[in-house]
Amino acid sequence: MRPERSINGIFILTLFAILAMVSCQNKENAESPLLEPLTKSNYLLGTNITLTLYGPGSESVFDKIFDRIAQIEETMSLQRPDSVLSSIRNAAGDKAVQVPADVYKVIESAIDMAKRSGGAFDPAIGPLVAAWDITGNPRVPDLSEIESLLGLIDWKDIVLDEAASTVFLKKKGMAIDLGAIAKGYAADEAARIARESGIKSALLDLGGNLFVIGAKPGRDNWRIGIQNPDGQRGLSLGIVPAVDASAVTSGAYERFFEQDGKRYHHILSPFTGYPSESGLLQVSIVSGKESMYCDGLSTACFVLGLEKGMELVESMDGYEAIMVSTDHQVYLSSGLKENFTLTDTDYTLAK
Ligand code: FAD
Ligand code: MG
Repeated sequence: MRPERSINGIFILTLFAILAMVSCQNKENAESPLLEPLTKSNYLLGTNITLTLYGPGSESVFDKIFDRIAQIEETMSLQRPDSVLSSIRNAAGDKAVQVPADVYKVIESAIDMAKRSGGAFDPAIGPLVAAWDITGNPRVPDLSEIESLLGLIDWKDIVLDEAASTVFLKKKGMAIDLGAIAKGYAADEAARIARESGIKSALLDLGGNLFVIGAKPGRDNWRIGIQNPDGQRGLSLGIVPAVDASAVTSGAYERFFEQDGKRYHHILSPFTGYPSESGLLQVSIVSGKESMYCDGLSTACFVLGLEKGMELVESMDGYEAIMVSTDHQVYLSSGLKENFTLTDTDYTLAK
């Protein structure tokens, strides 16, 4: 009899343990922090950044992410006189400047993007950006001023020394501008910190640079709304389902000014010195790889135009594009043909 009692005892104990576990799980499901996202916004990198994090302990993660983005702004902004980029500009034509590893990495990637795009993306664009000053006191520079500045815009005049971690600009007056790529790097860093902090699901919105972590709780993916070229935030052009991915958009409507009835936007052609007019209204890049490259590619393709831009995207494994032409046609790269749903009837999917 004794052994039987003991088996029953074990059985009863086990039953209690299972019931306790089930009730614990039920309690966890009922109150699961996974179902309650936390959202916080901050103005950094000249844009509104909104982070939506799901999961336990997410409250403490916001500060870590915003602190890191603020650090990126401090080092990689040309607007700040004390930034690393400003010290590189101040030493142009004179001496090499030693830079932190993250600044080196972003400049190196920007140069890679310049090479791949045949110079349509050019991180040496700084003097032209300053002359147009579209985010400050915008003006149309004289043709002679633009022509003389074009002599300073050449990524081949940026000299990197990996062993010494230095950057040297060959000509006085040169300046590196990372405005077209550093927001993507900041998104990668935000995602890295969130993941390292145990976040399994999140939506990180860095003003046009989106990063989704995992899938939306309760679904198998996130449905990323691609921005509308009419510039109305919140109204999407179409939807791409994605898991652990980034979507970055460059458009002519985000930052611009008007003079004598003509609109001048902030994406400049390093070839002409004027705002790029390539026949595209907007380029979005979607990828499960680096958001930094999505950012660089979206700007590069905007300048390159439809044909050369698509060629560049197709040459880069894992990156896909949605390009909108000025005649409201929407063009998709090969990997998106089955994965994009157009939601705005003002636009047509090109065959
Ligand atoms: P994108 O297409 O990704 O980039 C366009 C920007 O890249 C232009 O504004 C110009 O800066 C540069 N660019 C233009 N043409 C080219 C080209 N052919 N090749 C390469 N680069 C090009 N904005 C503020 O108003 N105030 C700030 O203090 C400020 N600080 C910033 C600090 C950092 C570190 C960063 C990354 C951005 C900051 N910004 C600030 C925003 C910045 O000025 C740009 O407007 C913004 O990054 C543009 O992003 P986008 O996604 O709209 O366009
Ligand atoms: Mg960009």
